[in-house]
Formats: sequence, C-alpha cells, structure tokens
Amino acid sequence: MPMFSPKIETLKAAAIRELQEERFVKMVKYAYERVPMYRERFQERNITPDDIKGLEDVPKVPFTYKNDLRDHYPYGILAVPVSEIVRFHSSSGTTGTPTVVSYTRKDMETWINLMARCLASAGVTGEDIVQNTYGYGLFTGGLGYHYGAERLGCAVVPVGSGNTKRQLDIMKDFKTTVLCCTPSYATYLAEAAREAGIDPLQDLSLKIAMFGAEPWSEEQRKHIEKNLNLKATDCYGMSELYGPGVAVECEYQNGLHVWADEFYVETIDPETGDVLEPGEKGEMVITMLSREAMPLLRYRTRDICMITWDECQCGRSHPRIMSMSGRSDDMLIVGGVNVFPSQIESVLFEIPGVAKQYQIIIDRDILDHLYVKVEMEPAMWESPGFDKDSFTWKVAENLKSVLMITARVKLLAPGSIERTEGKAKRVIDLRKG
Ligand SMILES: [Zn+2]
Repeated sequence: MPMFSPKIETLKAAAIRELQEERFVKMVKYAYERVPMYRERFQERNITPDDIKGLEDVPKVPFTYKNDLRDHYPYGILAVPVSEIVRFHSSSGTTGTPTVVSYTRKDMETWINLMARCLASAGVTGEDIVQNTYGYGLFTGGLGYHYGAERLGCAVVPVGSGNTKRQLDIMKDFKTTVLCCTPSYATYLAEAAREAGIDPLQDLSLKIAMFGAEPWSEEQRKHIEKNLNLKATDCYGMSELYGPGVAVECEYQNGLHVWADEFYVETIDPETGDVLEPGEKGEMVITMLSREAMPLLRYRTRDICMITWDECQCGRSHPRIMSMSGRSDDMLIVGGVNVFPSQIESVLFEIPGVAKQYQIIIDRDILDHLYVKVEMEPAMWESPGFDKDSFTWKVAENLKSVLMITARVKLLAPGSIERTEGKAKRVIDLRKG
C-alpha cells in the first residue's frame, strides 16, 4: 500500500532514535525558555535543560498532566504570542474548565501531514470519496480528518455529525468509499441502513472506515465490518496531541504505528512513574517533538498499553502501540455498560465545587446498582445558597449524559471520606465475594 511519507515512515529504527534524541533535547530547552510552568517545574527539581543531554536523561524531565492545561486556561502554556496562533481547539467545557489547545501554522502543517499518513496507512488514496461524520468545530476530529484527507487528494464530503438519514442518502448517492466516524456511530449507521432497506453490498460503495475517539473491541470491529461491508482501521489521538493522527493501524492491523519522528513514546508504571522497558505494559507517556504553540513534555495519556519496536511486515519502522486496554485502572461492567473509574472521576472533577475525593460502590440484587459518593469542597458545601438536591441531580445528570450510566449520587461533607496512604480505595465492588 502506498505510504504518504515513505522516506520518514521507513527510516531505520536507529535513525529514528537519533532524530528523537536531537528533537527531545531541543524541545526541553524550548519549553523551558518559553513556558513559565515548565521553568518552575525544572527549578523545583533543581535541574536545567543542560541536564538533559540525551534520551537517557528523559526520566529526569517532569510529567505534564491534563489538569495542567485546565489550570492554565486558556493561554497559560502557550510558547508563542497569540499573533502566531492560527487555530484553537477546545474540549466542550460543559462540565467545567475546558482544555484549550493551540496551533501555529507549522503545527497545522505537521498535523495535516500526520493525518494524511494515517489515512494512507489504512489504504485511503486520492481516488477516494471521504465522508466525514466527525463534528466540525472546537472538537479536533472534524477538521483533522478533513484537512488530512484533502492533503491526500481525496474528495471530502464534510457532513459533520448527526442527521443519520442524510448521512445514508449521501453515502448512497455520492458513492462514499471512506467513512470517518466513531465506532458507536458506525454501529448505529449500520442499523439505520438496515431499517431504511439499504443493502451495504448492493447499494453502498464503502471500503474503509477510520475509527477513533473512543475505545472499541474486536467484536465491535467484526460486527461493523460485516454490517457495512468495509475494513475498519483504528486511529489514535487526543486533542492535546494535535488531535487524531498520533498512531494508526497499517494493513496488517497488528498494533498501531505511532509516528516517532513527532512523538516520543514511553510506558511508565502509573503508580511510581518509573520508566518501563519496551514490551512491558504500562501507562503511555508522550512528548511532542516539534510542537511550537504548546509544547508538551512527557504527557500522561492515562492509556495503558505496551510498546514494541519489532519490525512490521508493512515496512514502517515506527514503533507500535500494542494491546491498548483502556485507562490506567480496571474497567467496570455495570448493568452491561462498560465504564472506567477514571471516566467517572473525570466527569466528577470537571464539576466546580466537587472535592478530589469520591467513592464508587457497586452492588447487585437482581440488577447492578451504581452508587457514587462525592465529597464537596468546603467553600461550596458551606455557601448559604448551596442547594444539595439540585447539585446531586446535576452530578447524576453529568454522569448520565457523558457516560450513559445511571448512578445514585450522594454528596458528602468535606473530609468524610477516609484518607489513606498510597493508593486510595476508590472502588468497592460488593458483587465480588
Ligand atoms: Zn505495519
């Protein structure tokens, strides 16, 4: 299958490591000089960029967390003046402070080329008609796929999200060959097509689907491939790291190639922060190697995976992310719905007034019941206008709208949840034992 950047995609692994080293060292200096947050973090550790001479010094470099972006809303970790920014994207912010990401013209070029690489890896070519159902706007999915597909020479149909009947009409009439969407929307489209009497084999021309933005299983892949008559490719990314386009499956679909000229990827022990060897499973940590607008050093993705530099049959030398398994904690299945405690946590922590203490309790009589106990910030709890009932409702509503789970929420006074040394006991599953 033709590559978009064959020279860089097939660069020898040793040459990639060399390029990474050079860029990493430079990026540390750049972030230190231009972003006060990084300068402070280095000073706290009594180090300067001079202490980072090569990849062996990476463990000395402080981590960056999602909350750092929130805490510096909106422009706090910009490394360039706003006049040099050509685009902002942002999380929705419906439940708290949004995370804002920014791009210079060069960042935009880098991202578009990475997206083109990803699409080509999946087998997309300039001959294809790409129907993009990712949301256009502040979310990175829509414009990311749009410009990447244009760069490759595809004909892009920028439908955006929603309006399923119209999506199906366009898919049929325009003879769409590539579908960009979330796996759950593809499942829905397949059902809607069947109900509308559309036969994917007879009536549609789909060949490839580009999936991302949510975790999905092999079962889901097989189901969608069968019901829409196409090949589904996994593409990984997150808005903090440009957007989609960080890593992608090739035609062999044995892990996702992460573009190592732009992303330095490590796995760490999420508890201790220690760097793990390739082949060991841990939390993925990524450093952006040429980001101008918003440098990110050792960004904690919270995704658990294993990295391999083993050669791939496709000829790409870039390492692969293997067996990605959700977030850095154990998945729960409550009433048939998959949910990670970290997802519940991120919904809770985005609600102003909620303290960083909570407990998830699951019990079962005939059905599963999910209880979420949330500790409140003193300022909110003690404020005269605080309405406990409507706040409880708000927390439950946010959990429902974001995660589609029904939880019985109980608000607790500040300090009610027992503090423990080390790892907090966040989840109590009474169904076991
Ligand atoms: Zn490959």
